[in-house]
Amino acid sequence: MSERKEIEIVWFRNNLRIHDNICLKKAIEGQQTVVGFVSLDPRYFKQNELKFRKTERFRALFWLEAIQDLKGQLKDLNIPLFVGVQSLEKDILEIDRQFSVQKVYHQKEWTQEEVQDNNLWSKITSVESYYDQFLFHPNDVFGVLSEIPNVFTEFRKKCEKTITVHPVFSTPPALPAENYFTSGSSIPSLEDLGFQPFEQDSRSAFPFRGGESEAEKRLDYYLWKTKKLSFYKKTRNGLLGANYSSKFSPWLAFGCISARSIYWEIKSYEKEIVKNQSTYWLIFELVWRDYFKFISLKHGNQIFQIHGIKENFYAWNRNLEKFIKWTQGQTPESFVNANMIELNTTGFMSNRGRQNVASYLAKEWHIDWRWGAAYFEAMLIDYDVHSNYGNWMYNSGVGNDPRNRKFNIGHQAERYDPKGTFQNTWLQKTLF
Ligand code: FAD
Repeated sequence: MSERKEIEIVWFRNNLRIHDNICLKKAIEGQQTVVGFVSLDPRYFKQNELKFRKTERFRALFWLEAIQDLKGQLKDLNIPLFVGVQSLEKDILEIDRQFSVQKVYHQKEWTQEEVQDNNLWSKITSVESYYDQFLFHPNDVFGVLSEIPNVFTEFRKKCEKTITVHPVFSTPPALPAENYFTSGSSIPSLEDLGFQPFEQDSRSAFPFRGGESEAEKRLDYYLWKTKKLSFYKKTRNGLLGANYSSKFSPWLAFGCISARSIYWEIKSYEKEIVKNQSTYWLIFELVWRDYFKFISLKHGNQIFQIHGIKENFYAWNRNLEKFIKWTQGQTPESFVNANMIELNTTGFMSNRGRQNVASYLAKEWHIDWRWGAAYFEAMLIDYDVHSNYGNWMYNSGVGNDPRNRKFNIGHQAERYDPKGTFQNTWLQKTLF
């Protein structure tokens, strides 16, 4: 039997980028043969008991595009990429049969399903994992997890006062040509994953593709080319079009760009163009993103429990018929319906829309908020476990909102869609 080639693996999860990627940097420094690996385990696409798939077509497509882009970027560094399409367990066994894996590097995750995956690798090799999805590095922030404040303002003030965001890593150097000993594996199509191909809807607020190259283009566009950042605070509650907010979330969720890169780009913008409330506010929102990650670090799997981290005991129901009405945009509230139809048609919904539809499901209909969160998980291009469950808890009265607000949907529609343009966009009836 021929000797198995010794390799080190960078297991790309929600860090599908080559810039500012600690795992890739460490692997390249290791002076071994380096290969990349991505898992498209069929369980990510499985249908659940509510009859939708864990990942529906919009995120699936974005994911494939991001992997395609990563493959090209890695090739420039002479690093081949393998894409596993069997269960992660089987793929790991297969890799172990073909190669002698010296080490696996991956981004540290801590939520239930993600941790199970980590353990599979440690059966065959040593594993190095790094926190790399934050703005503020967890080791810099709080000595012990219990010190993480449950109230956002306290968290933000402490971080802003005492923590410096780490600089981004410089682009890693290419490995010698011999490292590219194989072209790796081909990337499956949407059809291979069991989806029908589809056209993007021309009304989509997110008419973009996955991948690091696209993330960098968007950053350049939103800051330097159009200077939309200068007006972000005024436009961020918009509902229609690609530019009322940054739309960075899907790339952040897949790690096609790091929160640090965005932060430092805003800092350069503040030096060169303008520093105002809007530039501050985009950073403020990135701090919200971090906050939900710190909350899940602190509370672990409690974020998936019906009583949430607040342990508020409400009477929830599981009325499937009503839930389906909500998912399909068939409630008595046209503002809720328009937002749900936008989600179903494009995989995106504004922050304003998300708050309203979540509040409606949880606080008007008292339906188990985790069903709503599961539906968002399936449909949103930008699904991120921490932001999704954190925001759902917040809007359902079991999370971090000290005021436990309920949205008055009618008032919200009047305020944010006074002429009904948004609702007409999504509720228009076809004539034929
Ligand atoms: P911008 O307004 O341009 O903000 C810039 C970035 O700040 C965003 O890309 C995002 O990373 C971060 N951010 C902004 N608002 C929030 C927030 N409330 N919580 C956490 N981070 C924030 N965001 C996700 O990325 N993934 C999710 O799965 C997700 N689920 C949500 C579920 C509910 C019920 C609600 C109310 C909000 C959810 N959000 C989620 C937060 C927010 O709606 C989106 O991040 C935002 O709409 C994305 O658009 P943008 O990139 O243009 O945001």
